[in-house]
Amino acid sequence: MSTELSGSTALVTGATSGIGRATAFSLAALGADVVLSGRNEERGRQAVKEIRAAGGSALFIASDLGDEASARGLARQATEQAGPVDILVNNAGIFPFGPTDRTTGEDFDEVFAVNVKAPYFLVAELAPAMAARGRGAIVNVTTMVAGLGMDGMSLYGASKAALVLLTKSWAAEYGPRGVRVNAVSPGPTRTEGTAVMGDALDNLAAAGPAQRTGTPEEIAAAITYLATDRASFVHGAVLAADGGRTAV
Ligand code: NAP
Repeated sequence: MSTELSGSTALVTGATSGIGRATAFSLAALGADVVLSGRNEERGRQAVKEIRAAGGSALFIASDLGDEASARGLARQATEQAGPVDILVNNAGIFPFGPTDRTTGEDFDEVFAVNVKAPYFLVAELAPAMAARGRGAIVNVTTMVAGLGMDGMSLYGASKAALVLLTKSWAAEYGPRGVRVNAVSPGPTRTEGTAVMGDALDNLAAAGPAQRTGTPEEIAAAITYLATDRASFVHGAVLAADGGRTAV
């Protein structure tokens, strides 16, 4: 059966957990051949098994992202194993919260390595091939705190603010050659990664019109929209999927 993304290959980073995993399932349900990536092989292989059991096409490539070599290596492996990548979802991210005066140089470098450097070199490796084929979609996963000053989120917010600017720069750079680059900015969402936050996540979400945390599936729906031709006239946008938290 042919569906909306049949014949497309999608690479989703951070697909072993939370938002990335839900995105991999969502893209596979639309017919994409999905390459899931992450560090945890067991969770990666389990997700692949579940996608296949549901009739989808998926494979897992383990990758610890954090520098140019790992990013370019993942992009090349994905292309070799699944064919030219049409959709890249830069979702893998880390979010250690804490006071600026207790952040070490190593913490700083690690957050920027995973949240900025890896997406940067995945795009550097994959966008030119998309542009040469005249089509492609890149979706970067940022955060509502990329545009809000929040106590304890300076380093994380700054790294994602860089990704917001890169989204717009890449839209200008690759959009004229058929590659749409956009971002989704989630609000507080219950995932494996935010489980440790407990009530703090609910408190963060309470001030928004939705008055609740989001689900990974709700964020995946926004990412999926931007990855498909339904968003064919959308370039360089940052779609807030935050229960309205940044609107009021
Ligand atoms: P999560 O449950 O912690 O999942 C994070 C994913 O990123 C995992 O698949 C993890 O892989 C992968 N990852 C982390 N470090 C990596 C590394 N060095 N190399 C390769 N993969 C790595 O997180 P989430 O809540 O779904 O968040 C996903 C994205 O949404 C992140 O970019 C986050 O900043 C953003 N976001 C989340 C929220 C929220 O409330 N949940 C809100 C705003 C933005 P392994 O587990 O296999 O290591």
